[in-house]
Amino acid sequence: MINFRTAQGTTVGIAQERLDALRPLLRGSVLLPGDAGYDVARTLWNGMIDRKPAAIVRPAGAADVIQAVNFARENKLLLAVKGGGHNIAGKAACDDGLLLDLSAMRSVRVDPSTKRARVEPGALLSDFDRETQAFGLSTPTGINSTTGMAGLTLGGGFGWQSRKRGLTIDNLVAVDVVLASGEFVQASAEKNADLFWALRGGGGNFGVVTSFEYRLHKLGPEVLAGLVVYPFDQARQVFEGYRRFAAAAPDEMTAWLVLRQAPPLPFLPESVHGKEVIVVAFCWIGEMGPGQELAAQLRAFGKPVGEHAGPMPFTAWQTAFDPLLTPGARNYWKSHDFKAVTGDVERIVCDAVSRLPSGECEVFIGHLGAAVNRVAAGDTAYPHRDVEFVINVHTRWREPDQDSKCIGWARQLFDALTPYATGGVYVNFMPDDEGQRVAPGAYGPNYARLARLKATYDADNLFRLNQNIVPQGDASGRSAAAG
Ligand SMILES: Cc1cc2nc3c(=O)[nH]c(=O)nc-3n(C[C@H](O)[C@H](O)[C@H](O)COP(=O)(O)OP(=O)(O)OC[C@H]3O[C@@H](n4cnc5c(N)ncnc54)[C@H](O)[C@@H]3O)c2cc1C
Repeated sequence: MINFRTAQGTTVGIAQERLDALRPLLRGSVLLPGDAGYDVARTLWNGMIDRKPAAIVRPAGAADVIQAVNFARENKLLLAVKGGGHNIAGKAACDDGLLLDLSAMRSVRVDPSTKRARVEPGALLSDFDRETQAFGLSTPTGINSTTGMAGLTLGGGFGWQSRKRGLTIDNLVAVDVVLASGEFVQASAEKNADLFWALRGGGGNFGVVTSFEYRLHKLGPEVLAGLVVYPFDQARQVFEGYRRFAAAAPDEMTAWLVLRQAPPLPFLPESVHGKEVIVVAFCWIGEMGPGQELAAQLRAFGKPVGEHAGPMPFTAWQTAFDPLLTPGARNYWKSHDFKAVTGDVERIVCDAVSRLPSGECEVFIGHLGAAVNRVAAGDTAYPHRDVEFVINVHTRWREPDQDSKCIGWARQLFDALTPYATGGVYVNFMPDDEGQRVAPGAYGPNYARLARLKATYDADNLFRLNQNIVPQGDASGRSAAAG
């Protein structure tokens, strides 16, 4: 007998024979504690999360996903769904429940003639970039190549191409989904359009996506990108220059600010290593000539202490931040949306950065706007179509005894910024303890429709380990989801 946690928080014993009966129905595998691969399959990017499922199913295809969803529903098991395992909230694993680990489904098939890609839900950004860039094609995704395509897409998805081409979901054409009922459906603008609307921002609430189809665009293979690093005592000039630059930037240009301690990068003088710096990270996806002129402006905000910038393969730029974002460290994030980076915001951020609680913490200011905001708030579940900037407080450290200091610093900075923020938040940047922000912050005007659709597609809230949308009319939903 194997004890499982149910969705309701009780314990149910499942006879070994029932699990054994599941195995021949799968092309993939079932892993139990102690089995080879069990620990790898349950490990998430955020080292603060260490959950031990009672069993893990690693599907090889949609048929296996159907079997696993049916098994979880029929036995009322707590079910977690893992794509790339990157989400900061760590809801892609569970204690004592069933984990559906999609990491064995990683194929990316590009059709260069139609400029479309079919992507399985375990694919990482690196898989997608490698396959699409072989044809000089791409679509907007994120900035760290080890992130999963599935979770990123289902929350919205943005990165270096978004100001020109919108969010990842704005380039999603169709999906295959296994619903809570075990039924396999397709969704697109033409088929199951309501479900397709909900999946474009609604996270993992509506089913398990087994295939994503994306529209692709020409890109690179070289882009003009890089880092321009300024000493922290020039922060005022850099913010001033950045505000002017961002207001006038063409869609092809994306520039973010990162405030942190300088890592020991070879292009930085040793005297700067470990000191606070303000970094302009940029990517230009247009013709090189005009991009070089704009890049010159980024170097003139003050007197840079070093830079690493120029034409480079897009695939190289996509991995540029990977060494700073390796898995396993302890991480806690807070995030706000903004319409402007005002002087007050600058003052609050700089004050916090002068008191960083660990050498790996950073604040990043991401620039959205442009094509992202040319979609109406109600056209997809992701509603934040008037946001210009996202400010993320990335707290990162190694030792558990630093938890309260680091988390406290993040919360304090977040609270100080609150009066200047829109009140909205990108669902994919929310930590585990922000359930109360889901309705107003993450979904705002779209929440009521999402809650109705949740009741249609998942009335019993089988898919509850996510930033949970409570099925409308299910009074028990909120407390069950929190558990
Ligand atoms: C270092 C780092 C950098 C990041 N950079 C960016 C960025 O530049 N842009 C950006 O937009 N976001 C970024 N993110 C946020 C990222 O989009 C989310 O963390 C996203 O959830 C990661 O997807 P995943 O598949 O790896 O996550 P997972 O943790 O595997 O999954 C997250 C949740 O998604 C759901 N889910 C996963 N797969 C499926 C599926 N196939 N069907 C149904 N539900 C599913 C589940 O509810 C799961 O709990 C970053 C995150 C990190 C940690």
